Amino acid sequence: MSPSENGTSVVSCIAALEQRIEAACLLADRKRSEVALVAVSKKKPATMIREAYRIGLRDFGENYAQELRDKASQLTDLAELRWHFIGPLQRNKAQHVVGQAAVIHSVDSLPLLERVDRLAQGRGVVQDLLFQLNISGEASKSGAPPDALPELVQAASSLSHVRCVGLMTMPPLGASPRIAAPLFRRLRQLRDGLLADACATCVHLSIGMSGDFEAAIEHGATVVRIGSLIFGERHS
Ligand SMILES: *Cc1c(COP(=O)(O)O)cnc(C)c1O
Repeated sequence: MSPSENGTSVVSCIAALEQRIEAACLLADRKRSEVALVAVSKKKPATMIREAYRIGLRDFGENYAQELRDKASQLTDLAELRWHFIGPLQRNKAQHVVGQAAVIHSVDSLPLLERVDRLAQGRGVVQDLLFQLNISGEASKSGAPPDALPELVQAASSLSHVRCVGLMTMPPLGASPRIAAPLFRRLRQLRDGLLADACATCVHLSIGMSGDFEAAIEHGATVVRIGSLIFGERHS
């Protein structure tokens, strides 16, 4: 058993992370309560989620639709747990996620948005979601181009079972905080523009992972998505 598969270690990792988040908030002159921590549990067992929940974490992020469905069914007793779906979402997998995830962070196309709306309607819920943007223009990545945003926001406001609550982006794999910072800044400008005009509910900025969350907090993150610093490295 590696140290990170042991519950005590999840607890101490969260304590160390919490100190760094608090320090980053202090530096950025922000309140700790302005930044929600989503613990990214993809590829980690439900037992580790239980450990984190036991010491107070409530928000957990998953990347794969079936994995979310399976873990949710193992953890139904954790009444206050909120799932965040953060991975690329295929339209034919969306039924595992809509209504199950409190927030879907990765809506990046009109057809996907419409599919989510239809599924949410069928379940009698309004699905909160973030639009994921590909700010760096990197070819291989998911996320809509920023110029598609007005159309997406317009569409969301005309649909009755989805609600846009913010924006998400992911820097290129392995990018340093220095590379990530201008992308975060750009996302924030886009969010501010929507808030002032087209979308009053678009409050969240879902940015920041294990390698760059301090920079993300400096640039206005309201949600950080952190996996390996809590649960250890993933071996796929
Ligand atoms: C895996 C993942 C994370 C967490 O990454 P870490 O570097 O382990 O903190 C955050 N966001 C998304 C979209 C991810 O896929």
